[in-house]
Amino acid sequence: MSLQYIWRFVVVVGAYFFAARIGLFFHYGPEFSTLIWPPTSVAVAALFLWGYELWPAVMCASLLVCSFLELSAIGTVGSVLGATVEVFVGVYVLRRVVVLDPMLGRLRDAIGLIATSVSITIIGASVATLALGLGGDISAAVRGPLWFSWWLSDSLTMLVSTPFLIRWMWKPFFVRTVREFVEGSAAFGLLVVANVLVFWSSLAHASILPLAYLFAPLLWVAIRLGPRGITLANALTAAFALSSAYFGHGVFAHGTTIENLFLTQGFVGIIASVFFIVASSVEELRETEAVLEGHIGKLEGMVERVSSEDKAKTEFIAVLAHELRNPLAPIVSAIELVRINGVRPENAKLFETIEIQTRTIGRLLDDLLDISRISHEKLILQKEPVELQSIITRAVETVDRFMQNRQHSLSVVLPEQSLWLYGDSVRLTQIFINLLYNAGKYTKSGGRVTLTAQWQHNSVRISITDTGIGIDSRLFKKIFEPFVQGDGAPSEVGTGLGVGLALSKRLAELHGGTISVASEGPGKGSVFTVTLPLSRFEQTRPLPQKREVGARMPAPLPRSARQLRVLIVDDNEYAADALRQLLEHIGHTVAVVHRGIDAIAYVAAHSPEAVLLDIGLPDISGYEVAKQLRAAQGPTLVLIALSGYGQREDKQKALAVGFTHHLTKPARIADIEKALQTYVKK
Ligand code: ADP
Repeated sequence: MSLQYIWRFVVVVGAYFFAARIGLFFHYGPEFSTLIWPPTSVAVAALFLWGYELWPAVMCASLLVCSFLELSAIGTVGSVLGATVEVFVGVYVLRRVVVLDPMLGRLRDAIGLIATSVSITIIGASVATLALGLGGDISAAVRGPLWFSWWLSDSLTMLVSTPFLIRWMWKPFFVRTVREFVEGSAAFGLLVVANVLVFWSSLAHASILPLAYLFAPLLWVAIRLGPRGITLANALTAAFALSSAYFGHGVFAHGTTIENLFLTQGFVGIIASVFFIVASSVEELRETEAVLEGHIGKLEGMVERVSSEDKAKTEFIAVLAHELRNPLAPIVSAIELVRINGVRPENAKLFETIEIQTRTIGRLLDDLLDISRISHEKLILQKEPVELQSIITRAVETVDRFMQNRQHSLSVVLPEQSLWLYGDSVRLTQIFINLLYNAGKYTKSGGRVTLTAQWQHNSVRISITDTGIGIDSRLFKKIFEPFVQGDGAPSEVGTGLGVGLALSKRLAELHGGTISVASEGPGKGSVFTVTLPLSRFEQTRPLPQKREVGARMPAPLPRSARQLRVLIVDDNEYAADALRQLLEHIGHTVAVVHRGIDAIAYVAAHSPEAVLLDIGLPDISGYEVAKQLRAAQGPTLVLIALSGYGQREDKQKALAVGFTHHLTKPARIADIEKALQTYVKK
């Protein structure tokens, strides 16, 4: 037997006996039990918190109490047994059935405690009344009233005091902020005032109306101070109510003391239960809210992690696409050079393959860069009035050679009148190039692709129909998401990256348009329909006489109008060399260096008329080199930036540091020459 057990045993016996003495103070004759019976609560709280093994303490204490009452042996045994069993069963129910949380912060705790208090007290009242009757301690006539008063007093006292004891014994100490302390004091101050008014002032005798005064502070405590506050408030109110009834004061002081006490008990029991239920419900809501907030916090963290991972991925894709453009630049230059130098007839087909595939790689890289720009909302459209027909013509020209290679027949049906849109012509063309390429790609050789544009009031509908592999209707929505691909592409063209449609959709949306797909199923062809709003102001413009639509690969370049001394600065030796050959071919005198510092030294020594400068140099950045060259050479030097980044802000930055032109890699020789000559003309 541990010291702790002995100590608790003594405490239980002492507290039970003391509580019984208070109870016996309210004893009014043989037909009534005591009207307040706190020992049951003391025992239930102690055994619930400290363990069943303390039941002998309850038995001893009960025996001790009975020994002062001069009962018969049977009466004593019955009363002791009834009290002990009732406590044991009560604790069992609270632990096993209710699974009571001593913090009392759930509705289940409040209902469980109330139900247990009302039900288990039947055991004590029944066993004791029976034994007292058998032992001759009470007459048969009083058995009924005695049983009833016994049960009522036992259960009502339990209702108020058990929650108070369990909550306060479980966690006697607590910390509050100053604000909480002030609020608690105010609520309890108001409760004391209301109790005095209701139970002790002259006002209380007038009617039962003042009872309502109690509701405000009790509700305040229940909602704001939780189970700890309400169990104390209920005990306090019970003390005020019972003492006033005992001394004949207050709203219930209209009959004999016993009647007053009964009425008061009923009232106290009901309001204690109601506000206990309110407090525990509010606490449960509060805790649920806290748990939910925790979950939301966790979810937000997860979303943030996923989106930062997603961001890292798209950034990686953008960097990858950008880096791959660098090696592509010399390849494009080399292809142009070979074309200029002339291709042997037996190699013409091979050369064309290289050309087409290089262009495809360039397109894929552009798409990848664009999709990452769109997902970072960095894509800036340069909108202006543009004519639909010219956009379609440019798109058709771009895919024409591909369609011919695949032996598709491509027909285009455009409306008679000129339709004007307000948009970015490059991006709008990109939509139709993507859709036409797809139609050609996902249709077996020798198929038919038709583009039809129809004017519809304020918009235009452009449908691209093919006789290709078709699309399963389950994919209709998904194929517009990035990286989603169907299967079944003809093996000779292979598959792409799955970003073309996503990009087209976003581009159409950025122009206030839509894009949709229809197909009767696999093998039955597909129709992609783009709807774009027409520009409100430009519809009546006449059709331009002749549109200048440049072919992607220019015819062999003529010799330069004015030959210049040009310096190429690029750390990629292949890119620099291919560009040198191209520029020399059209008549310029070219030197090449690979580092920024060498460029500054070369320009100082030889004063070339133009410098083609890569931005990403191994030693100093191209911007810094440009600044120094501009400062040293003055405004006449032609300074052209060659950069993998072609956004508007990249161009602005380049012009701000002194470049005369900014070209995106891989730049075509025609564009470079144009830049050189434009500046020279000035
Ligand atoms: P990619 O063509 O690079 O795979 P897209 O985003 O352009 O990516 O297209 C996504 C998918 O939609 C393709 O993989 C293909 O399965 C399907 N698809 C697109 N256009 C057609 C078409 N005209 N006919 C059949 N399927 C198509």
